[in-house]
Order: sequence, then C-alpha cells, then structure tokens
Amino acid sequence: MMQDFGRENTYNTESLQAMDNAHYLHPFSDHKSLREKGARMIVRAEGVYLWDSDGNKILDGMAGLWCTNIGYGQISVAEVAYNQMLELPYYNSFFQCAHPPVVELAKEIASVAPSHMNQVFFTGSGSESNDTVLRMVRHYWSAKGKPEKFNIISRRNGYHGSTVAGASLGGMKPMHQQGGLPIPGIVHIDQPYWFGEGGDLSPEEFGIKAAQALESAILDLGEDKVAAFIAEPIQGAGGVVIPPETYWPEIKRILAKYDILLVVDEVICGFGRTGEWFGTDLYGLEPDLMPIAKGMTSGYMPMGGVIVSDRVSAVLEEKGGEFNHGYTYSGHPVAAAVALENLRIIKEKQLIEYVRDDIGPYLQKRWQSLASHPLVGEARGVGLVGALELVKDKASRTRFDSELGVGGICRDISVENGLVMRAVGDTMIISPPLVITRDEVEELIAKAELALDLTLEKIQTLL
Ligand SMILES: *Cc1c(COP(=O)(O)O)cnc(C)c1O
Repeated sequence: MMQDFGRENTYNTESLQAMDNAHYLHPFSDHKSLREKGARMIVRAEGVYLWDSDGNKILDGMAGLWCTNIGYGQISVAEVAYNQMLELPYYNSFFQCAHPPVVELAKEIASVAPSHMNQVFFTGSGSESNDTVLRMVRHYWSAKGKPEKFNIISRRNGYHGSTVAGASLGGMKPMHQQGGLPIPGIVHIDQPYWFGEGGDLSPEEFGIKAAQALESAILDLGEDKVAAFIAEPIQGAGGVVIPPETYWPEIKRILAKYDILLVVDEVICGFGRTGEWFGTDLYGLEPDLMPIAKGMTSGYMPMGGVIVSDRVSAVLEEKGGEFNHGYTYSGHPVAAAVALENLRIIKEKQLIEYVRDDIGPYLQKRWQSLASHPLVGEARGVGLVGALELVKDKASRTRFDSELGVGGICRDISVENGLVMRAVGDTMIISPPLVITRDEVEELIAKAELALDLTLEKIQTLL
C-alpha cells in the first residue's frame, strides 16, 4: 500500500515503539498486551483525519477523546497560543490577581451558558472540575449552616473523571476496585440505560422508574443529608446512554420537591456536541453547577472549569469566606486564550447551528441505516454522538458472551480499516469533530458498515 502522510514521512515506528515500551506508562491501558502489540503512533492530524507513523490515514470518529470539536489544524488557535506565550505565558489568579484572557473567557462562557449561570471557576481538566464540584457543594451547604447536607447522589456507570473525587462520583466498578474507592458520602443509583437494563418495560416506563431511584435515594438518606445529584445529560464514556424521553422530566419533578443542588456534567455534551451549547439546553435543565472541559478548548490545550449558578455564587460570596481550593493552572492564560479562540471559531462557523440543523440530523439518519445490520440490536444518537449495540439476537436484545470481546474485535477491525470507533463492552460509539462534512459522514458510515461486516465474519469463525 502506498504510504500517505499528506507530507514526507520522517518517523521510525520501531524506535518510537521501543521508547514507548521502555518508558511510557499509558493511561487506561493494559501494559502487558500493549507492549506485545506496540502502540500506534499518531503523528499528525488535519480536519477530521489522523495519520499514523506508518502512513495510514484514519478518520477520527471520536474527535480525540470527545474533544476536538473544531477539528484538527486550526491555524488561528496556534497563533493565539504563540502570541499569548510571548505576552504572558503564565501567571496565577490566587492572591487577588487576574489577567485579560481569563476574565474575557469567563465573560464569554457566561454569555453562552444558561442565563442564571454567570460565574466560572477554572481548572485543568474535567476530573479537576469534578473535584472542585465535590468541595464546592459541601462548602456551599456548610456556608448555609447545614454541614450535614454532605452526601452526593450519582449514578452507576456514570463517568466524572479519574481523580479520587472524579472516580468516586463516577460509577465505574473497575475504577472503584483500584485504590479503595468510592470515598465516603457518595451514593450510586441505577442508570437510565434502557437497552441494557430496561427488561420488559417500555423505554418510557423504564425512564420513569430509573428517575424514581433518585427520589428513593433522597428519602433513604433523608433530604437533610443530601447535598446534590450529579449526572451527565447523556452518559458518554458509559456507552452513549441516551435516557428515555421520560427520564429528565421526572428528575426535574423530583428535584423541585427537595432542596438539593443539581450538578450537570457537561464535559462531553458542552460546546455543541448535541446541537445546543450544552446538554442542559437540550433537556431544559436548571443546573446549579456545570463542570466543563474537552470541547471548551477542543483539546488544543488542557483546560476545564465549573460554571456556577447565581444562587450558589451568591452564597459562596456572602457567607463562604475563603474557598480553600485552587490549582496552580486555574485560568492558565495560554489555555484561556486558546479557549477564547475556540469559542470564536464555534460561533464564526456556526457549528452549534450546523450540528442542530444540518450535519447532526444527516449523521443520525445515515447512522440509523446501520440498525438493519445483523449484528446491530440498536442504533441511537443525538447531534454528533452515536452508539451501536452489538448483539447475538436482535429481538431479545441478547448479547454475545463477554469472553468473546466482540466490541474490541470490531474496534480493532475498524481502526485497521481507517475509522476510529470506540468500544464500551459491546457498544460501539462515535463522536466525530463538529466540522465533519456530509462526504466525510458517508465515509464514516461506509467504514462502520465494513467494520460490522468483517466483525460478523470473524466471530462466525469463533462461535
Ligand atoms: C472526560 C470526562 C471527565 C473527565 O475529564 P478529564 O479531562 O479526562 O479529567 C469528566 N466528566 C465527563 C462526563 C467526561 O466525559
């Protein structure tokens, strides 16, 4: 095969892999099998495409890790970062200081956030944002003279990051098993995952039932012991779990009855993924706190934050005293300048409208065509996220033996054939850059279909 780097190849895969194997500890990786195979070296990217060190061109159906919303290769972002580094590469905002990029960014984020949310705390990542959330909600209730409102209700299979608080708030069992998590004061309820856990109920019935788990948990713990409920509008890492239509309205009905905070984790849904600025807008939610990251900078710089409602910021300001919390890189000037340029590009290219009215509906229509594939039990999606459930039997939603690792097989075949899809168990997921064109969507669908065909062939030899 002819190598295609889009430019000259200057990479030596073997020597890069040797360094990797000897010295690099990867996040979320089984190092034993990684060392046997050798890591795929990604060397360059442009638009929605990646190139590896062997010259393979791959359509990035995951936008990195759900983050490169504006696509790769946006030159103006690099220029802004370069100029900011020359002007002021770093200064902190502890001790009563600030700088122009961070205050401009806070104003800009407040202008696109729901109207009752007007202040932003900055962090370096989504995980740090959720550490901030944990401390902020407990501090809020203490400041109000109710320190016993301490527990946070979260969901099984939710993802809120990988720091101690993030992983504890998240509901990923394999993460809890390492390091003695969750920390005290976090209670997990069931997730609104109809395809996997809905049994004989209709999606609508199941949505109500899953939401009512929140009310049961509040009543079990006692309202006076509950600080907050945290959830993603659509669970991303958990497998693009889109709640049944009845779920969020029922959650809203329950929250209206009790005095607890709502934390909506917008790290994936924020900044256009669903065709709205935030998932909150899609479902008409009224959060008290919204952790953000990922699409906030389109991954060009690491940065996160927590958008705070007027109700919470007023209490923290009036009664909170000093908030003993912050990161060296909170509001980093280069990251802030990059985030501002990212937001400018999202607006200039009208990417929110493009996802809502044009490319989102187009992708979803084409994605549905995969539902007729013999391996696919359900194709679902919203905006520019999608999932396919791989099953042994469509009608009964029966899965393959998990030992077979069908999702992993499909993911590897897909990448080999030029499309990054991710596997969560046997759920295949996509989340492409928001700048993807219709032609590129056609390529994505064709490659996904090819991956399904080849997966079916391969597992027939294993059964
Ligand atoms: C990725 C993610 C996080 C963690 O963000 P990091 O930047 O990886 O720390 C938190 N919440 C959600 C919903 C995420 O998808």
